[in-house]
Formats: sequence, structure tokens, C-alpha cells
Amino acid sequence: MEFAFSKNSKKSKDPKEADHVENMIILGSGPAGLAAALYAARAELAPLVLSGMELGGQAAITNVIENYPGFPDGVGGAELGGLFQKQAEHFGARIVMDSATSVDLSSSPFLVTTYSQQYRTKSLIIATGASPVHLGVPGENEFIGLGTSYCATCDGYFFRDKKVVVVGGGDSALEEALFLTRYAASVTVIHRRDSLRAGAILQKRAKENPKISFIWDTVVRSIEGEGKVQAVRLNNIKTGVESLLKTDGVFIFIGHHPNTVLFTDQLKLSSGGYIEADNKMQTSVMGVYAAGEAMDPNYRQVITSAGMGAAAAIQAAKYLETLE
Ligand code: NAP
Repeated sequence: MEFAFSKNSKKSKDPKEADHVENMIILGSGPAGLAAALYAARAELAPLVLSGMELGGQAAITNVIENYPGFPDGVGGAELGGLFQKQAEHFGARIVMDSATSVDLSSSPFLVTTYSQQYRTKSLIIATGASPVHLGVPGENEFIGLGTSYCATCDGYFFRDKKVVVVGGGDSALEEALFLTRYAASVTVIHRRDSLRAGAILQKRAKENPKISFIWDTVVRSIEGEGKVQAVRLNNIKTGVESLLKTDGVFIFIGHHPNTVLFTDQLKLSSGGYIEADNKMQTSVMGVYAAGEAMDPNYRQVITSAGMGAAAAIQAAKYLETLE
């Protein structure tokens, strides 16, 4: 199943009315945003979801999700996102494909400006998620789309029978390395330490896969090629030895940073840029809630993000009652 805007997906009611104020705007359409939308819609708050440019968030570009309860055989990320969307819209959530470009949280109702219009809202749930961290080495940006990638599900197909490297030692790196073995002739995982951060099941699967090999204690110094990726320059951080490894693709999975730059001057953020929220998902501004990877550096799972989204919507609904 693919994401599609259903008949419920429409613009906010009377968007041009200067005095129109939404009950609730939800920024983001990943598991946190769509779970919040479901709960708010069932509370008859007619939430407006500004989906961002990637409907479904990071989960939607995950090939298979095996740890979301209710799907014993796993479920495709896009399929699960599509189901979340359908369920939220069924109860009256409105989903608009647009992104906030600025917010003004200094007074209520809050002002949300997007690429296409301005909204005013009594409550706001921030579920803007996180984006992949870049290595920051020469060649990385130059070769995005020409062999450098942050999404195996999106780009793996282009590497049929080719040699690819995966950078990182966490769950994402191994999950994506395993996915890449469907297409690539070989997958070399380059990790900066000699033990993996990933969970036991993924480690076992990756180590048993004949197409996957590991290079330990090693970092990528640069990505090299002419017109496309042809090699990575490596540095063994224990021995100091440099080497050149030929490869057709470099898939980078070294973590994520929260998408919170819009809120820098408006909300309390942690030193890592995560939105600070209490156990009721309340941020430093009354009426503004946060859920999912924009505020969670710890769990970062579909189920935890969805749970936080639900909690944020329940709390926002209670807050709205106090305004009446
Ligand atoms: P992560 O757990 O933070 O792992 C990042 C990996 O990249 C680590 O191995 C880290 O090395 C390495 N790294 C970080 N910066 C680096 C740099 N500059 N150069 C080279 N290597 C670098 O990130 P993740 O794998 O994206 O996972 C994020 C969260 O999502 C985790 O909580 C994870 O459990 C969860 N997740 C779960 C699943 C699943 O359950 N199936 C799938 C994907 C993600 P060190 O180990 O040395 O720090």
C-alpha cells in the first residue's frame, strides 16, 4: 500500500478567514504525528496535520518493521504509515502536504506559517522527527544521488550486482545492510569500533549473511570518484593505516538529529537540540506539546513515537478543555 491523500485530505476549513483558529495543528506525519492525529480526531477536535514533505516520516522509508505489535510477519513502513493515515482520516483528521517555515509561540493563539499560508491554532503538537546525520567528509555532499545515500529502501535498487559500503554500527546500519544484500553483490560494513551497537538479532543475521563483511576500527576520511562514487578512503583509527576501498555506493547510517531548528528561540531545547517536554509531553510553552524523535533521544521506535503522539494528543485535548 502506498500513501495517497484520500478524500478527507483537504485544506483547513476557511483558511482565508482572518479570524479562523484551529483547535490543534500537528506538525509531522510520522508515527507520532499520525497517532496524535488519530487521538485528537477521535476527541472530535478535527486536527490539522501539516505532513511535511515526506508523508509518513522516516518509518515510511523503512523496508520492513518487525517490532510493531499486531504484525507478526512484519509490515512495510509505507504500508503501516498508510494505515495510520487512513485511520486518522477516518475519524476526521485533515492532512495537508505542507511544512511549517516558521512558528510564533509567543502568544496564544499560536501562529504557524507554511510555504503556502498562515494558520492560527489554540494548541500545537510538534512531531517533526529527525533527519540522518551526515559524516561531514569530503565528497559526501558532492555525490548525494551519485552513490552516496542515507536510505537503502529508496536507493538500494540502483546497486544491483554492485559493491556497496555501509557506514555505522547501530540497528539502522545493520538493518539497511541486510536490505542491501537483496541487490548488491557485496556489502561491507565500516564501523569505527570493534563491537556493534546494534541489537543481538540484527548482529546475528548480518554476521551470518554471506554477502556482508565488516571492517572494524575504521572511519571514512573521504568519498572519491569522478562523476560518481568509485571509492572510499579509510583510516584505521587503531593502527593509523590509510587505505582506498573500491565501491559503487556509500550508505551512511550514523544516527539522526532532531528537526527542531524552527523552535530554537521559542522552546526550551536540550544541548542535543531535542525539545524538552515533561512526562505529559508539555513543552516550555503551555499548549505546545512534543512527541517522537523531535524530543526523544532514547527510544526512537515506531511504537514509542506513536505512544508519545497519543499521549500528547490526550494532554492537548485536556488543555483545550481548560480554555472553554
Ligand atoms: P545509533 O544507534 O545512534 O547508531 C549510530 C551508529 O553510528 C553507531 O554505531 C555509532 O558508532 C556510529 N557513528 C556515529 N557517529 C559516527 C561518525 N561520525 N562516524 C562513524 N560512525 C559513527 O543510530 P541508529 O542506528 O540510526 O539507531 C537510532 C535508534 O533507532 C536506536 O535507538 C535504534 O535502536 C533504533 N532503531 C531500531 C531499529 C529496530 O529496532 N529494528 C532499526 C533502526 C533503528 P558507536 O557505536 O561507536 O557510537
